[in-house]
Amino acid sequence: MAGAISTGTHGTGITLGNLATQVIGLKFTAADGTQVVASSSENPTLLEGGRTARSSSSGFRTRIRY
Ligand SMILES: Cc1cc2nc3c(=O)[nH]c(=O)nc-3n(C[C@H](O)[C@H](O)[C@H](O)COP(=O)(O)OP(=O)(O)OC[C@H]3O[C@@H](n4cnc5c(N)ncnc54)[C@H](O)[C@@H]3O)c2cc1C
Repeated sequence: MAGAISTGTHGTGITLGNLATQVIGLKFTAADGTQVVASSSENPTLLEGGRTARSSSSGFRTRIRY
């Protein structure tokens, strides 16, 4: 799932977004081991950007919530 949301896989048009648009929460582990949670109430900017960001820019996704 992490790979599929990273690559913006399988959108079907303006009314039904790709898999990344359905994500409501993410948990990242950074290179230094720090863990960061992103949701609409906690780090919302990271949630928006982190949906399709690759592992090098935001950290490794360890949890995805739909
Ligand atoms: C034959 C074929 C047909 C396809 N047809 C379509 C199609 O019609 N439409 C479409 O949209 N796509 C299509 N794809 C693309 C494919 O669906 C996606 O590339 C795939 O779903 C990505 O998932 P994966 O698990 O293989 O990702 P991976 O290759 O494992 O990862 C992709 C990228 O995601 C990042 N990543 C992976 N895991 C993490 C993590 N835990 N944390 C942070 N970053 C991470 C990495 O940067 C990695 O390079 C097709 C692919 C193939 C092979």
